[in-house]
Order: sequence, then structure tokens, then C-alpha cells
Amino acid sequence: MIVVMQPDAGDAAIAGVEARIRAEGLGVHVSRGTERTLIGAIGDERKLAPSMFETLPGVERALHIVKPYKLVAREWHKASTVVDVRGIPIGGAAVQMIAGPCSVETAPQMRAAAAAVAAGGARLMRGGAFKPRTSPYAFQGKGIEGLTMLKDAASRFGLPIVTELMDVRMLDTFLENDVDVIQIGTRNMQNFDLLKEVGKVDVPVILKRGMSATISEWLMAAEYVAAGGNHRIMLCERGIRTFETAYRNVLDVTAVAVLKKETHLPVIIDPSHAGGKAWMVPALSCAALAAGADALLIEVHPCPSEAWCDADQALSIEEFGTLMTKLRAIAAAVGRTLPGPAVVNEDLAVAV
Ligand code: PEP
Ligand code: MN
Repeated sequence: MIVVMQPDAGDAAIAGVEARIRAEGLGVHVSRGTERTLIGAIGDERKLAPSMFETLPGVERALHIVKPYKLVAREWHKASTVVDVRGIPIGGAAVQMIAGPCSVETAPQMRAAAAAVAAGGARLMRGGAFKPRTSPYAFQGKGIEGLTMLKDAASRFGLPIVTELMDVRMLDTFLENDVDVIQIGTRNMQNFDLLKEVGKVDVPVILKRGMSATISEWLMAAEYVAAGGNHRIMLCERGIRTFETAYRNVLDVTAVAVLKKETHLPVIIDPSHAGGKAWMVPALSCAALAAGADALLIEVHPCPSEAWCDADQALSIEEFGTLMTKLRAIAAAVGRTLPGPAVVNEDLAVAV
């Protein structure tokens, strides 16, 4: 941190700033120029805030020199992190597809969805058992029963599961049900108590971007998880709110480029919640892959028109298969691979 003094700041004001820095356990370096004095704090300045100094006599302003996040910053960790989810690498040369319905509805729906996403080449399956709905009267998710249905359907095809945790009180239930990836949704990106708790467990986390969060706020949220000891974090851009009303959210593709520079964590794009319409999903997926996303999170439903949640944006099984073929060509063009269908036990596949 650098504290810039006012031109007429006297020795007493300078000593006051020095004392405040030392009180936080940091060292001080004073640089007296011809017009003003600059006071530098030496040590980990992340515990200092500009407001600690800007109210002191003689201070013009105070500025941070280093980024407020450290564990998630590429500055401190040059190599890209690859998060291993039960043997599936996210963040490496292969781009991964995570697909499935918005919400877990019934066992037959989940079996059909699991068969379809596995056949298309998805290596992980998504499905919400606890749904954050705008209306309290809308379907809120199947709860624990939904977790079981998701796990049962996905395990037939060897697909690890991704599902949203909304309430810290459900964390133990998620662990007991062997949830492979905990998703923190856009509405909870700054639920700091929830972030602290998922920071204490050894389960990969997908941290979605808050719909109105800056990249810096998002990385600070990731820092909360990492600070607890859990470094298996993936960031997911899912569209941000702007003045535009022609689509649900604006997919911030620029964020992929910025994140790749700022952080070593894998970047996932969710084109479904960005566009909000199934017909937009292929174009947004292509853009995401070309921009450097490490994985895509896409909503797929065996019968989109009957989906209990987010029906407009779900791809049909056929649309998903067509998209996967198109994405393989884009992956190859940018030097990545998009895995083909996993080899599954035929007996299990037949059972579906
Ligand atoms: C979801 O993925 O099901 C979801 C609710 O997403 P978001 O938190 O991005 O709205
Ligand atoms: Mn959804």
C-alpha cells in the first residue's frame, strides 16, 4: 500500500500514518519528494484498507499495490490448475462437457438424460435438487430425493455429478450422498459463510459468477474458498445483467480472456443461463470454446417443453448430439480436444 500525503502535510501527519501502518505489523518506507511525501507499507498489505488512512490528517489518498486476492492469482501460481473430478481432468488440454437437466424431476427423466449426455460425450452430469427460484411458489427442487435420483442415473454411466448447494445446513447431506462437485450458484456467490464452509471440505467446487459481480469480486469469492484450504475451485461464467433485454443475460466472453490472465483456476462457461433460449446455446458454446473455456455447463432435457424449470433454454437430446459434433471441430481448431462418449457398461446402458 502506498499512502500519498497532501503537499502541506507536516511531520506529525507523516508520523501518524507511520504509526498506523506499524500498528498492523507492517514495516514503513518514507519517500520525501520535492512536492509530496509517499509512505509505503512493507509486508502483506492485504490486511490494510485505503479507508484506514484516508481519514487521517494530511493524507490525500491510499492505494493498494498488489491484487487483493493471492491464492487464486496467476501472479503467485503460474501453472494452470487442473481440477481432477474422479479421474476427469478439468483445466487441461481436454475440454469437458458437463450436461443434464436444470432440475432433477423423476427417475425416468434422469435415466434418459444420463444416457443421452453420456452418449454425446459429456463426462459429468448436472442436475439441481435444490433450486434457487425467483418465486417462492415455483418448484423448489426434489431435495434429498433428487440427489439420490441424480446419483443413481449418473452412476450407471460413470458420470460424476454436479449439483447446487444453497444452504450450508445441507453440506453434510451433500457429503453423505457423495456429491462429486458442489455448485455455488450466481445468487450465492457472495454468501461468505457458505464459501467458508465449502472451503473446509475436499470436494471440487464450481463457483458461478454473481449476475452483477465484477471479476475482482468473483475472484475474491474464490479466494474465500481457497483460504479455507479447498483449492479445487472452478469458475463458471453464466451471463451478467446489463441494460439489454433481448436475452436473459449477457455472456461475458471477455471474462474468459481476463480470467486466464488473472487466475490459474479452470474456467467454465454456462451458455444456457446466459442466453436463456435453446436456440442461442450453440452459438454461445462455440464462442466460449474458441475463447478458451475449459469446460461447458449445458442444460439438456429429454423433453424440453415438459421441463419443470428453465424449459426455454434446455437442448433436446438430438440438439445436444449435433452441438457436440460441431464443438469437436472447434476444439480441434484451437488445439484442444473434446472427449467422445465414455465407454459404458452395456448391461447398464440397456437397463436404461
Ligand atoms: C443452475 O445452474 O441451475 C442455476 C440455477 O444457475 P445460476 O446460479 O447460474 O442461475
Ligand atoms: Mn437452470
